[in-house]
Amino acid sequence: MALNIVLMGPPGAGKGTQAKKIIQAYAIPHISTGDMFRLAIKEGTKLGLVAKSYIDKGDLVPDDVTIGLVKERLAMDDCKKGYLLDGFPRTIPQAEALEVLSKEIGREVSLVIDIEVEKKELIRRIAGRRVCKNCGAPYHVDTAKPKVEGVCDICGGPLYQRLDDNEAALEVRLTHYEEDTKPLLDFYKKTGKLVVLDGGEGSDRLFEKITSILGEVSDDNH
Ligand code: ADP
Ligand code: ZN
Repeated sequence: MALNIVLMGPPGAGKGTQAKKIIQAYAIPHISTGDMFRLAIKEGTKLGLVAKSYIDKGDLVPDDVTIGLVKERLAMDDCKKGYLLDGFPRTIPQAEALEVLSKEIGREVSLVIDIEVEKKELIRRIAGRRVCKNCGAPYHVDTAKPKVEGVCDICGGPLYQRLDDNEAALEVRLTHYEEDTKPLLDFYKKTGKLVVLDGGEGSDRLFEKITSILGEVSDDNH
C-alpha cells in the first residue's frame, strides 16, 4: 500500500517535528498547508495576502482556497509513491473534498495519524516555540534549544516566533481545532484508517511508534 498519510492533531501537538522525521525516513513529500501559506506570505503573492489576513488572527483560511491548493499539489508527480499531508484536512468540507480528489487521481489516503496532547501542554509548547525562517524546523526555548541560540541546527537559518503563536491567536486556533477539526476524527474512525497516538511522550519515542505503524502499512506492499 502506498504511504498516503494524513497527520492530524492540535496546534503544538508536534506534527511538524514528526513530519520532518517521516519524510526523511520514507522519502515522501511533505505537504504542509501551513508551510505553503507561510511561503506565499513571504513571497508576497496574492494567495499570501489572502492567507495572512486569516492566519495572523488564528482563523482558518477559507476552504475553497485551501482545497484548490492541495488539489494541485497532490496531483504532482512526486506524490506518486506517497505523501504526507500535514495540517490538511482541517474541516469536514476539506475531508470530503480530499476523498473525491484523491480518488480521482488514484491516490487515496491509506492512514490517518492523530497526535493527541492535553491543552495545558499545547499552550506551554506554543508559547516557547521558535521556528526556522528557512526550513520551518521547530524549536523550543526551554525543551528543544538549538546548538547555537537563534540559529537552525539543520540549515543555519534564523529562528523566529510565528506571529500566530501569541496567546490571543492561539486561543482562536484551539477553538477552531475543537469545533472544526475534531469532528474529522469520527469521520476517519468510520473508515478504519485512524490511529491515535499520545503526543505527550518524547518526540523520539513517538517517532518509534509511528515507524512501527508505517512499517506494517508499507509491508502490505510485498
Ligand atoms: P498549527 O498546526 O501549528 O496551527 P499550521 O502551520 O498547520 O499550524 O497552520 C497555520 C495556520 O495556517 C492555521 O492556523 C490556519 O490559519 C492556516 N491553515 C493551515 N492549514 C489550513 C487548512 N487546512 N485550512 C484552513 N487554514 C489552514
Ligand atoms: Zn532551518
